[in-house]
Amino acid sequence: QTLDTAQSTHTTCPYCGVGCGVEVRKTKNSLTHDHQVNGIDTHPANQGRLCVKGSSLAETIGTQSRLLFPQCQANGQTEQVLWSQALDKIANTFKATIEQHGADSVAFYVSGQLLTEDYYVANKFVKGFLGTANIDTNSRLCMSSAVAGHKRAFGEDIVPGCYEDFELADLIVLVGSNTAWCHPVLFQRITKAKESNPNLCVVVIDPRHTATCDIADIHLPLLSGTDVALFNGLLHWLHQHEAQDHQFVTAHTQGLSDALKQAGEHRDTKALAELCGVQLQSLEAFFDKFAKTEKVITLFSMGVNQSSQGTDKVNSIINCHLYTGRIGKPGMGPFSMTGQPNAMGGREVGGLANMLAAHMELSNPVQRDRVQRFWQSPLIASENGLKAVELFEAVEAGRIKAIWIMATNPVVSLPNADQVKRALSNCDFVVVSDITAKTDTTAYADVLLPALGWGEKDGTVTNSERCISRQRAFLNSPGEAMPDWWAISQVAKRMGFGAAFDYHHPSEIFDEHARLSAFENASSENSVSAPEAASYDWRYFNLKGLCGLSKPAYDALPPLQWPVLTPYQGTSRVLTNNRFSHPDGKARFISVKYEPPRNKASRDYPLALNSGRIRDQWHTMTRTGLAPTLGSHIPEPFIDMHPNDALLFGIKQNELARLHSQWGTLVARVQCSGNMRRGQVFVPIHWTAQTASDARVGALVNPVVDPVSGEPEFKHTPVRIEPF
Ligand code: SF4
Repeated sequence: QTLDTAQSTHTTCPYCGVGCGVEVRKTKNSLTHDHQVNGIDTHPANQGRLCVKGSSLAETIGTQSRLLFPQCQANGQTEQVLWSQALDKIANTFKATIEQHGADSVAFYVSGQLLTEDYYVANKFVKGFLGTANIDTNSRLCMSSAVAGHKRAFGEDIVPGCYEDFELADLIVLVGSNTAWCHPVLFQRITKAKESNPNLCVVVIDPRHTATCDIADIHLPLLSGTDVALFNGLLHWLHQHEAQDHQFVTAHTQGLSDALKQAGEHRDTKALAELCGVQLQSLEAFFDKFAKTEKVITLFSMGVNQSSQGTDKVNSIINCHLYTGRIGKPGMGPFSMTGQPNAMGGREVGGLANMLAAHMELSNPVQRDRVQRFWQSPLIASENGLKAVELFEAVEAGRIKAIWIMATNPVVSLPNADQVKRALSNCDFVVVSDITAKTDTTAYADVLLPALGWGEKDGTVTNSERCISRQRAFLNSPGEAMPDWWAISQVAKRMGFGAAFDYHHPSEIFDEHARLSAFENASSENSVSAPEAASYDWRYFNLKGLCGLSKPAYDALPPLQWPVLTPYQGTSRVLTNNRFSHPDGKARFISVKYEPPRNKASRDYPLALNSGRIRDQWHTMTRTGLAPTLGSHIPEPFIDMHPNDALLFGIKQNELARLHSQWGTLVARVQCSGNMRRGQVFVPIHWTAQTASDARVGALVNPVVDPVSGEPEFKHTPVRIEPF
């Protein structure tokens, strides 16, 4: 096999929020794949590393499962149509629906798989031209609690640190994260850091004993949902053991006394250990290590966010970093690991139903006015839209009559997923843009639009450390597939908004996005003045240094961490000057009170269901399911449980069993890996009705959400199990 070096493309992995740089080369004379994939040594996220999902990308290139042409449903029949027919139908139906029922009768449900440019155009179209904020994203299911926690503490949604901090820390606390499987390249970086720094201590806080525990010095298998109690207990311990950074707390924070008062409820570490279901000795060892170590980084992910108390959990972690002044400095800080490749990029353009573009707020009239003037739009949504779970409830109730779903599979991935089925089957008009022809969601589409996939589309994504990185096309568009930004712009033109959507290349959209971030935004980390800070209008998110990029410069754009205030100068760490984005420039301690998960185990449903990813699959397997290498790791869905629970409920290992919740059921094979606590079961999220006989765990998950963020409680649903 020979490599054609002339045809090498630098792009970004389409899977997790690590955002690894990938070099793709076309191979000649290969018997297996047309392309070879390697990590890019110079990419800041992965420095040459890839996990097995990234390494297997070449196996997923092909058109076998693709949606290649626009299709419409008519009289129970699906027929291939011209793009112009499909676009006319969408524009006419959305227009008529809004005229008859108002702007809030239509909605978009989009995805952290979209590129920033697609996301930007969708958000602009819906909020600035349709006049509704009913656009939400599957990122709501992933990191919206982190967003809400950041905004409460810092006055802005911002991740202060960078991946390099993992290598500089002396204590890494991993909370609610199986990093080894879900962010594998970050796990590789932590493992290497531990090899080179014998003082580096790793603490894993997770109900399950996962592969991440392989490098743990302390594992706290806390009971699901008790994180707030644990971190309140830590805050109290820090207070008792004089670990406060007095200068930092006095000069740069507010609200400590209320937070400490609440934390005092967990002053008794013995009672706290019992509440959290962990050993007292391990708990105190963790508290002591945290108190005595200066360079501490706390990484958190879905186990924190996906909870009825997700936002409070985030703030309970941030409180401990504020108390010790460990933020905005090398090797320190709270760090949210995003799940999806572009969860962060979606936040930048206001992809959530309660945000505007460029990190501005829908609820702020000054910021609304600024965005509207910049877009020169006829109107702008003035109230928050519906968040993911409530959005599909509104569809079922008939309040939303037309919905456009892009790059996501809510019939599998949302909680109470059978409710989503009912909603879509009752909805008057469903548009689905996807790369895959047959998914559990495309089955409900009135109009199906073929989208471009990884390797075909061009744009940017932003990873967990704020690094904007290019995804570049190296394949021809299959069939009649088109970029999502193009399809939205074509509909916008048909609805009379042509001038605002006259895009010909994603570089034009990126430029507009960068200019909006800098519009009437003279602030920067170094130059902010007191009057500016006092205006509540000071934002870190600023791409001033990337305004006016030419198409060739956009094509060649290197990975850069925002804020980018001068050309090609990213910012690895923020909050370094201890100025926060609240009006007084101070961070906030948030007083948080521990509440157990909303739905508790009962006699009828005695077990708690936890769900999550496995190492070698991604979301609903539409891409990773194509790679034989990845399928060999764990080939079928499973229910993992404690062997004593299996005995108690008459379940045999390796045999099929049925799980029931109040919301749905599934059947899968039982394993007793030894990794589960008593009373808890784990089921992976990936399998669908398309890939297994309907093992959609989403069908069982309770539709309980965090009251602040709207993020669903995927980690705690009461269930019962019986032999199949
Ligand atoms: Fe892709 Fe994430 Fe693996 Fe990196 S760690 S190669 S971004 S799946």
